[in-house]
Amino acid sequence: MILPSNNRLTPEQLVEVTRIVEAFGCQIQPIVGAVRTIYAIVGDERDELMINRLEGLSYIDRVDKIQSPHKLMDRRSDLATHRIKIGGVTLGTELLVIAGPCTIDPKNPELFYETAQAVKEAGAHVIRGGVWKPRTNPYTFQGDSKSLEILQEARRRTGLPVDAEVMDEHQLKLALDAGVDMLQVGARNALNYSLLRAIGKAVAERNTIVLLKRSLHMGPLNEFISAAEYIAAFGNPNVILCPRGTSPAPEGYRNYPDECITPLLKEKTWAPVVVDPSHSVGRAAYVPACALAAVAYGADGLCIEAHVKPSQGIGDDPKQALTPAVLAETIAQAKQIWTLRRPVKTA
Ligand code: PEP
Ligand code: MN
Repeated sequence: MILPSNNRLTPEQLVEVTRIVEAFGCQIQPIVGAVRTIYAIVGDERDELMINRLEGLSYIDRVDKIQSPHKLMDRRSDLATHRIKIGGVTLGTELLVIAGPCTIDPKNPELFYETAQAVKEAGAHVIRGGVWKPRTNPYTFQGDSKSLEILQEARRRTGLPVDAEVMDEHQLKLALDAGVDMLQVGARNALNYSLLRAIGKAVAERNTIVLLKRSLHMGPLNEFISAAEYIAAFGNPNVILCPRGTSPAPEGYRNYPDECITPLLKEKTWAPVVVDPSHSVGRAAYVPACALAAVAYGADGLCIEAHVKPSQGIGDDPKQALTPAVLAETIAQAKQIWTLRRPVKTA
């Protein structure tokens, strides 16, 4: 990873740097951070002569040789100072809340507009709403592209950014054309490397944020962080990690709540962690406790399913959506826990 002395290389400097690395069979991928651009060396970056030539340039501060499969997302990466912003929140400085229904009902847009307004009033910063849904049962409602217009309208009415899941490249294009601010990669696609690559390429020139859910099966944490690296490697480092419960579950819960991995993730990566308690426990009655535990574990935010009339919702809403009143109370308590958090002294 090449760190220039100034915030970014000039076009002439980039040409010179590219010529050097290409002579060693490598390429350059600029990663545009909020303040600074860094330059990943794609290929085998261990050649001492290449490093020496790069470090010999007057406008290069240093070349980092982080030996990590996720060198951009690594806590030691220069991107560690990168801050992701959405809905008026800078991740890490205050609790980010993403809330809304599991699934938008295209036959009842008013219910979504009402919910969007209500979750905004409850304190959410981003409105979520499933347009296309990954359903275990192929005979159930799979989503509808028409819901994208409903999502756009809710964005106009509330003034808040919106989040929706995409499952393939066609949906990705539609969502980006519609101005979806946050793209969700669901648990079932969290290890779909061609989709992750396609998303990385598509968001490279944009401010879009990607909410990457953890895969359903309890894989090693490096696998989760490396999935984020697939996206960031194309130039947009705005990736948020979202633990959402893994399988198998203790009897009574939908999944095995995994908010407890937050401190471990934070040790390895600078990426913000936004926990989804709704899919973890899968029942509205258990969601607030799981949300509070997530914040106690150090989460930067929460992604919670909420609906004005859960019983009239579709998808997961009748079982796991919080009402706006319970959401507001959960957010208030979560903020209290946030203020109690202190960096723990280990020595
Ligand atoms: C969802 O957010 O509604 C969803 C389907 O999430 P996950 O991919 O975590 O199951
Ligand atoms: Mn859901």
